[in-house]
Amino acid sequence: MVIPYGRQDIQESDINEVVSVLKSEFLTQGPKVPEFENKISSLIGNLYSIATNSATSALHIACLALELKAGDTLWTSPITFVASANVALQCGANVDFVDIKKDTFNMCPDALAAKLEKAEYSGTLPKIVMPVALCGQSCEMEKIKLLAEKYGFKIIEDASHAIGGRYRGAYIGNGNFADISVFSFHPVKIVTTGEGGVATTNNIELANRMRLLRSHGVTRELSQMDCASHGPWYYQQIAMGFNYRMTDLQAALGSSQLDRLNEYVTKRTELANLYNERLKNSDLMLPVQHEDTQSSWHLYVIQVPKHRDHLPLFKKLIAKGIGVNLHYIPVHTHPFYKSLGFKLGTFPCAEDYYSRSISIPLYPTMKECDQFRVIDVLLEYFA
Ligand SMILES: *Cc1c(COP(=O)(O)O)cnc(C)c1O
Repeated sequence: MVIPYGRQDIQESDINEVVSVLKSEFLTQGPKVPEFENKISSLIGNLYSIATNSATSALHIACLALELKAGDTLWTSPITFVASANVALQCGANVDFVDIKKDTFNMCPDALAAKLEKAEYSGTLPKIVMPVALCGQSCEMEKIKLLAEKYGFKIIEDASHAIGGRYRGAYIGNGNFADISVFSFHPVKIVTTGEGGVATTNNIELANRMRLLRSHGVTRELSQMDCASHGPWYYQQIAMGFNYRMTDLQAALGSSQLDRLNEYVTKRTELANLYNERLKNSDLMLPVQHEDTQSSWHLYVIQVPKHRDHLPLFKKLIAKGIGVNLHYIPVHTHPFYKSLGFKLGTFPCAEDYYSRSISIPLYPTMKECDQFRVIDVLLEYFA
């Protein structure tokens, strides 16, 4: 039996919720999506939640709502899934990266400050900065917010990994530090809707804008129209939008999963603590937690020591039936990004991270014996 690096947990209650939607009148655009959105808001403590068919879609409409366009620039972390950077290009804007911190692997606030200072001088300040809460650990959001106030950029937090994680005791995505936060509900993430995502914000204008863009730029709100309604069928397209809607089937699954969010995060934290405890005397570098954060523990990333290669260990784990992975290949090193002019060597901490990291299995239904199998292989390798 291969131990995967992550996997979803589907229970009978989830199945029943989805089946009840299948038997209902609405498979999409019914009551389940707003119910799911309200549940997220009341849990996280933000005002508005906009559910979408993926986190990528949510990131895209978040950028558009903040009017990212040709001539503008978005900065994100090089250690993220390509979607974080792609959405800026999809808006016609430019993208650039800010190197990571060596210990937390999140965007380095000092590197950000230094890059902003230079950009101000050369007139190339970003319109949006997108920190990524890697592995479920929040970035140093207060420092980033202070820089946003100083330099006038907006913050979209790619919290795809991080629902249920906390920063300074409060849930990530509550709107205290970011203009918009985005969570993913892909099956490997903390809770799932199959495919799906959500954008959270406390700004009603951004929320309305994202709702409009999620559904073709079409409105049924009289106050948004440029003339009186023609009749009960009437709607108007007032912006260019997309079909980024979540279905009621997905929202029902998500609502049911959300009931177990804290259980999941607690279980993931216990597994991470056990890895920390058992591996602390090995040669491996273990994930460092900033004192302001409580991670949702989407990923547990280990690093081989500086002079060692991670590939033999990666292969050994695979050979032993342990489904490891690597999150992520630095975005700027992909051929597509190289074709835009990015070069190897530009973000040394990110590139060093990539050369030494491995994501090891961590999911709430992971059995104790499976976790000990992973630990044993790791300890044996360095013995
Ligand atoms: C998963 C992920 C995304 C994309 O999420 P989807 O829901 O698959 O679109 C974006 N950014 C990060 C950091 C992710 O891990």
